[in-house]
Amino acid sequence: MRTVTIVGASLSGLYAARELRTQGFDGRLVIVGEEPHHPYDRPPLSKDFLTGRADESRLALTDADETAALDAEWLLGVRAHGLDPRGRSVLLDDGRTVSTDGVVIATGAAARRLPGDGLAGVHTLRTLDDARALRADLTRGSRRVVVIGGGFIGAETASSCARLGHTVTVVEAAPLPLLPQLGTDMATVCAALHRRGGVELVTGTGVAALRGTATATVTGVDLTDGRTLPADIVITGIGAVPETGWLAGSALVLHDGVLCDDGCVTALPQVVAVGDVARVGGTRAEHWTSATEQPRAAVTNLLAGRTLVTARTVPYFWSDQYDSRIQFTGRRREGDTVHVTEGEITDDGLPGESGFLARYERDGRTVALLGVDRPRAFLRARRELQRELRQDGRPGEERRKTETAVL
Ligand SMILES: Cc1cc2nc3c(=O)[nH]c(=O)nc-3n(C[C@H](O)[C@H](O)[C@H](O)COP(=O)(O)OP(=O)(O)OC[C@H]3O[C@@H](n4cnc5c(N)ncnc54)[C@H](O)[C@@H]3O)c2cc1C
Repeated sequence: MRTVTIVGASLSGLYAARELRTQGFDGRLVIVGEEPHHPYDRPPLSKDFLTGRADESRLALTDADETAALDAEWLLGVRAHGLDPRGRSVLLDDGRTVSTDGVVIATGAAARRLPGDGLAGVHTLRTLDDARALRADLTRGSRRVVVIGGGFIGAETASSCARLGHTVTVVEAAPLPLLPQLGTDMATVCAALHRRGGVELVTGTGVAALRGTATATVTGVDLTDGRTLPADIVITGIGAVPETGWLAGSALVLHDGVLCDDGCVTALPQVVAVGDVARVGGTRAEHWTSATEQPRAAVTNLLAGRTLVTARTVPYFWSDQYDSRIQFTGRRREGDTVHVTEGEITDDGLPGESGFLARYERDGRTVALLGVDRPRAFLRARRELQRELRQDGRPGEERRKTETAVL
């Protein structure tokens, strides 16, 4: 392989570049990124960057020494808009074409938007530019902030806005925040964290429309139950969609991400996908850890021209909200039982002073873990779970057969 092109110059793209060089690829390496920035870390954007506790210098994922050592051509501020059906040319928005022998797709996901979100004061939070704009808006005195969506990004953003002294309301369509991820019992704890943080949580109702002035500045959020929440700032945290639009017309199978086998290899052996955009063995994860773990296997398989190793690992993510650290690993399903095995949940539904560790079980076996403010116990239990799943030969658990069968 003489040229490898990585499309997406962020977390998983950078890790893929590192792996290529570490695994001995000494050919031409091209990295295409739509954003004008060198790779930076997204998790602080909703946390310390928003509150002003971390500045931009703390976000960088790489430095000049490493950039030089990677010896890559960085094509930044330009979007790829096509991959030819054989996977041998990447077409760029500025009219250039990169001829290539191998491709790593690392284009991540984009924030899902609400209709009418073009009003001033309405924000999403995915990129550094998004975070800069929101941070600037939040420094203009005390504001009424409405966060739409009680998922991780919504909860973290609400927590940061409350810390900055703003009046914050979170609107969540489900009866509890993080219900699909954590199940009722543990989602109740997350609802209690919002209350502890002084944030009003409005659940079980959707958003009908955003209201604005004649000069197109947001003034409120109309709910489907007929109420209107006044707002100076609205943040939509309603999930992300994988960035696959540019691959239309390629030979790849696209279905909520780029479909790959267990080793991140797509329908074309010389094209692999990693990170938030990749549906690996039937599952797409939007977690920092998956984006950093998948590139190793993906690059091994890319350089081999076939799938030698699997990239399926036990999912893990963390979230920081209202001074609590939430950590989760494994895969829970509806019907799993959950119980606290260390620490406690208080009568108010809040984590006890030294947090807690909860285990999700199915057929008598642990399938997932949740830790809140109990990092050491969580780490120990996470290692145990990884060992058990590996011994049982179910590191990533079962695939969704309908989706992988398409490949
Ligand atoms: C605000 C925020 C907070 C987060 N906090 C946590 C956390 O606490 N814990 C956790 O586990 N995870 C967290 N995550 C998720 C984590 O950051 C992502 O899983 C990770 O960034 C995925 O990396 P990626 O490289 O696959 O995709 P991305 O980081 O999305 O990068 C994809 C890159 O590809 C570029 N691109 C897209 N399309 C094209 C194209 N056609 N041509 C060229 N370039 C293109 C994009 O501009 C982008 O720069 C957070 C994410 C956000 C947004």
